[in-house]
Amino acid sequence: MDLDLLQRTLAEMGERPYRAGQVWRWAAQGAACFGSMTDLPLRLRSALADAVPFSTLELVREARASDGTVKALLRTADGRSVEAVLMRYRDGRRSLCLSSQSGCPLTCTFCATGAMRFARNLTAWEILDQALHFRRGGTVDHAVFMGMGEPMMNLDAVLGACSKLPALGVTHRRTAISTVGWIPGIERLAGEPMPLRLALSLHTADDALRSELMPVNQRYPLARVLAACESFYARKRRKVFVEYVMLAGINDSHLQAVQLAGVLDPHVFKVNLIPYNPAASAFAGSSPKAIEAFRAELERRGLHATVRLTRGREIDAACGQLAARA
Ligand code: SAH
Repeated sequence: MDLDLLQRTLAEMGERPYRAGQVWRWAAQGAACFGSMTDLPLRLRSALADAVPFSTLELVREARASDGTVKALLRTADGRSVEAVLMRYRDGRRSLCLSSQSGCPLTCTFCATGAMRFARNLTAWEILDQALHFRRGGTVDHAVFMGMGEPMMNLDAVLGACSKLPALGVTHRRTAISTVGWIPGIERLAGEPMPLRLALSLHTADDALRSELMPVNQRYPLARVLAACESFYARKRRKVFVEYVMLAGINDSHLQAVQLAGVLDPHVFKVNLIPYNPAASAFAGSSPKAIEAFRAELERRGLHATVRLTRGREIDAACGQLAARA
């Protein structure tokens, strides 16, 4: 819901400002329409229903995987596609994967979103409405900006949405922003009062290989990105999660694990190895055995490393698979 539009509309209707807060509390707690907001006068509920779209996004389609993951294809008022994912875990966690842009202007070679045409930045309300969509279906408690787009290229809107997420049940400490290493964004996040988490999509400790896999590395090279993450840690005292997608024969050798451990300070970084999910690219994923050997080598060298549980692959909802085929 566009909360600016809501406030303007209420003001034009001559309503008291506290009404906006009332509406927002209902929406954040999963209300499906103005009609159910029982502490608002009936005439106001119907006036709002005529004047303010309940969501800035329209649901086009929803897909469910057998592991409980749900992917929603949503459409903005100007016809742009956005995908958002809800991941459900056995321990009861319900985690949102949110998109910050429709498409992505970066062209990481292993990612399906990078191969899709970039449309535009999403507004804070369009980001928030992805979360509200799933909130209407039940509680939510974690959020990651790991959907479509590069959140640091749209940080005002991302932070605007983050500031509202606690009302839905997602605290700042349970919210993570993932980046390709967009340094100005990392620096800004370090100075941000909200205690949000930072995740870095690193994928290799080799500068030349990284430029091949992720062209953005030419603009913001590895050493400077890692230095920015170290400053983030110095300021926030919150570890940075490193995401590392395991590509067979590309970045998964023993030597590359040694190299990775050599550039990451274990006080600052934790590593999350991501099994490669099929995307429209020429890569193949590393075998479970190769992933485990890589992980063990990092641990041997003092770096905490885990392997990401793959969710939603059968509905193309896993990392790197969001591409909005409408
Ligand atoms: N642009 C931001 C936010 C997207 S996060 C970023 O890159 O960090 C999506 C994560 O999924 C990133 O770590 C990305 O590198 C990873 N990813 C992309 N394609 C993938 C694939 N095919 N398999 C597994 N992970 C992939």
